[in-house]
Amino acid sequence: MSNFMEILSGIPINSVLRERIELLKEIYVLKEKEIDELRKKLTQSEKEREHLLKQLTEQSETKQFVEYLGAYFKKNHKGEFEQVVYCPKCKLSTFDAINAFNCPECHWRSPFESYELPKIIKELNDSQ
Ligand SMILES: [Zn+2]
Repeated sequence: MSNFMEILSGIPINSVLRERIELLKEIYVLKEKEIDELRKKLTQSEKEREHLLKQLTEQSETKQFVEYLGAYFKKNHKGEFEQVVYCPKCKLSTFDAINAFNCPECHWRSPFESYELPKIIKELNDSQ
């Protein structure tokens, strides 16, 4: 409102103009309210958009995995399964530790032993 009043300062005002100015002030206040509401809606929409994008990314990441023997496996660009075991909870690649694959994040352990991986990958590739 201060900008609005600054614009009018120093202008001689008669009663007709005063009425018009009062009307314009009311419109100005209404428009400011509308802008505030639109800002709130925009912020809400941005949050929803972010949430949906996150969901979509998670869904497409889950789609690239194949669950087998309680673990996740992923194909490379040639369409063959990688020699990597992924954690079914975190979808992170695991590391070989004490005869099983371990997730660095949640400490999930594969239900099969490390030496079985080549056989498992072969089974997966043969099943396609
Ligand atoms: Zn994990």
